[in-house]
Amino acid sequence: MSRRHLRLVAVALATLLFAACDSAPPGVYREQLFAFGTLVDISLYGVEPQAARQAVAAVDALFQQQNRDWHAWQRGELDSLNQAIAAGKSFRPDASVVQLVRLGQRFERLSHGLFNPAIGHLLKLWGFQKDEPGPEPPDPAAVKHWLRAAPSTLQLQIDEGRISSSNPAVKLDFGGFAKGYSVASAVELLSRRGIHNLIVNAGGDLCLRGRHGDRPWRIGIRAPDGNGVLASLDLEGAACVFTSGDYERYFVYQGKRYAHILDPRTGEPARGVHSVTVVADDAALADAAATALFVAGVPDWRQIARDMSVREVLLMDAAGVAHVTATLKPLVHFQHPPAAIETVQLDNPPRP
Ligand code: ADP
Ligand code: MG
Repeated sequence: MSRRHLRLVAVALATLLFAACDSAPPGVYREQLFAFGTLVDISLYGVEPQAARQAVAAVDALFQQQNRDWHAWQRGELDSLNQAIAAGKSFRPDASVVQLVRLGQRFERLSHGLFNPAIGHLLKLWGFQKDEPGPEPPDPAAVKHWLRAAPSTLQLQIDEGRISSSNPAVKLDFGGFAKGYSVASAVELLSRRGIHNLIVNAGGDLCLRGRHGDRPWRIGIRAPDGNGVLASLDLEGAACVFTSGDYERYFVYQGKRYAHILDPRTGEPARGVHSVTVVADDAALADAAATALFVAGVPDWRQIARDMSVREVLLMDAAGVAHVTATLKPLVHFQHPPAAIETVQLDNPPRP
């Protein structure tokens, strides 16, 4: 197991232990899978063990298929599409890839380009399209060259499922929202099997449905340093909680940390924020918005949150200050008090 995997397991275990001390009660069926390079913990409430086992096996099969189809740098549907784009050709990928492209275009538009799933070549330059990121920053001339090429998902045309690009510099990478889309598809699969009280937790990013028996589900938000739990939330009904952090994937070069969320305006890793958590019904949106708000940083996150129509946000800035929206604040129980808590009203309508 690689260091990254060990770290991921440790993070996931921290989340699980936290959940365990709160619960592990009768009535919950719990199983873990490994997918998308992370541990996925599935909790189903009030389901017969055999039905639960079969449901989880179906989710596992779905995840493995999606992992193959959407992988950013291994052979598969997305890779074939990216090769066609680079060669100036068109390609008809699996329908799920077309759907992800459409969603990616929507998120890029709503975030004013801060979320841009066409930045695959830039991620590769920075060494993030491989298992072990790094080892050093790219040649600044290569980054400038990429900035001039200005790839965007809005340069893609979709014609009856066939995709082409007016810009061969587009290289799709769904890393910023595929996990969200995937967790949502797992929840849908479980709902179709009549399971309505559940959590699908992919390494701390999760969707939940229903309740934990006679009380809400209690979930943990990872601490920005990757150790333990920053805060807990009691949620019920339909909610997804997605966090983007600078502790997820990074390398250190000459004492400086370079993390995997890149600012498409500068071509450099986004700075100034440790983590962003978004709570929303729509998992893919929550996932994309957490990444977009990370890029937007302290000066701009409010505007981007409004434009992406997300209301529940907790942003931990580099100074340890928690910025939390007024609607989310009552639900958040900090385990370690932050340096300061700033409550934010997000009441302006979205920009046109
Ligand atoms: P995690 O849950 O692992 O922190 P995120 O949801 O924050 O992941 O997404 C980070 C991933 O998103 C990166 O590994 C990369 O694949 C992709 N990515 C990085 N920067 C951007 C960006 N500006 N726009 C869209 N996707 C990005
Ligand atoms: Mg994301």
